[in-house]
Amino acid sequence: MGTISASLPYLARNFPARRDLVRFRLSNSSLSSVRCRRRIGSSRTSATSSMAYERELEIAKKAAALAARLCKSVQKVLLQPDVQSKSDQSPVTVADYGSQAVVSFVLEKELSTSSFSLVAEEDSGDLRKDSARETLNRITELVNDTLSEDGTYRVSLKPEDILVAIDRGKSEGGPSGQHWVLDPIDGTKGFLRGDQYAIALALLDEGNVVLGVLGCPNLPFDGVNVQDNYSGESGCLFSAKIGEGAYLELLDGSKQAKVHVSAVEDPAEASFFESFEAAHSSHDLSSSIAKRLGVKAPPVRIDSQAKYGALARGDGAIYLRFPRKGYREKIWDHAAGSIVVTEAGGVVTDAAGKPLDFSKGRYLDLDTGIVSANPKLMPAVLHAVQASLTENFDSVGRL
Ligand code: AMP
Ligand code: MG
Repeated sequence: MGTISASLPYLARNFPARRDLVRFRLSNSSLSSVRCRRRIGSSRTSATSSMAYERELEIAKKAAALAARLCKSVQKVLLQPDVQSKSDQSPVTVADYGSQAVVSFVLEKELSTSSFSLVAEEDSGDLRKDSARETLNRITELVNDTLSEDGTYRVSLKPEDILVAIDRGKSEGGPSGQHWVLDPIDGTKGFLRGDQYAIALALLDEGNVVLGVLGCPNLPFDGVNVQDNYSGESGCLFSAKIGEGAYLELLDGSKQAKVHVSAVEDPAEASFFESFEAAHSSHDLSSSIAKRLGVKAPPVRIDSQAKYGALARGDGAIYLRFPRKGYREKIWDHAAGSIVVTEAGGVVTDAAGKPLDFSKGRYLDLDTGIVSANPKLMPAVLHAVQASLTENFDSVGRL
């Protein structure tokens, strides 16, 4: 049971034995789970180990929910046609920085340690310019309003406090210690269009993702396949903690459910998720993979890690992502989403079937793309990926 890398030759040799389930789980979350329990102390009970990271998860959920509230208020204004043009980049700038400042503030207030490491997408460089003064004032106002709204925090932060909060996100991460990982708005293009986006926050411990939350303000609670005239509730908060499963609740904390990936075993019955933006992931390549697998359903295109959330609750069965050659994936684009999926029973690997390694700093160092599905589907998906990558070597022009 020592194998932790699910390489393609390995898959070819060992599937369809039921060892797939064991090996894949060991390669991802269970490996971390083992380490986590070892660290806590082998003499303790599983009840004790289930308490690991419990407080951190509550803090992460609170931070993501507050940041989601800020983003929602900005998007609401943005989408009023008479108020602002969608081509104006300032709303997304305000929401991006504001979301990062809110999460950073909540972590600082709630964590028992005064020094923590945060690896986040934004820094305050541009905001410190004279020309950005008005933007900074707007962000400051928004952050204060958001933090004070439900009476949890009585604060009146100054612009300088906002800059400091944002710059807490400059950590480089790495293989040792704990690092929070944040994408304050994942899927900014979706945010601007009024579509899907996510606030993604995760915690790394000794290089492994141990918890993650995805705040998805526009995602329907009842699944992505609901009709266009959906009148149900939207606003999902996915959360997962190592070894404890994945959960979904409404962003306001009501309506909770444990989630699980799709149990579909026949690729022909599976539907797949990919980026809305073709510039982020080759639609041609995923279409070729889907065809090879016999997938009948059309692609489900969603911005951001909301895709991982939708996959985790079985709205679709396969996740495919193939950026152009040379693109370096950032850890904040996958840390939270990957643990939500693995804790929901799924597998997340690169295109070669290797687990994602979050211990290398701000970037993921991976082979070609990212693939996810349940353990039963994964071998067929990886085979199709490899076959299409080989066949499309020239025509897609990615390799
Ligand atoms: P998605 O909506 O799933 O396509 O992912 C959104 C994320 O893609 C953003 O947060 C960016 O970090 C990332 N991104 C930006 N440019 C590219 C690119 N050229 N290729 C792949 N991903 C990108
Ligand atoms: Mg992102």
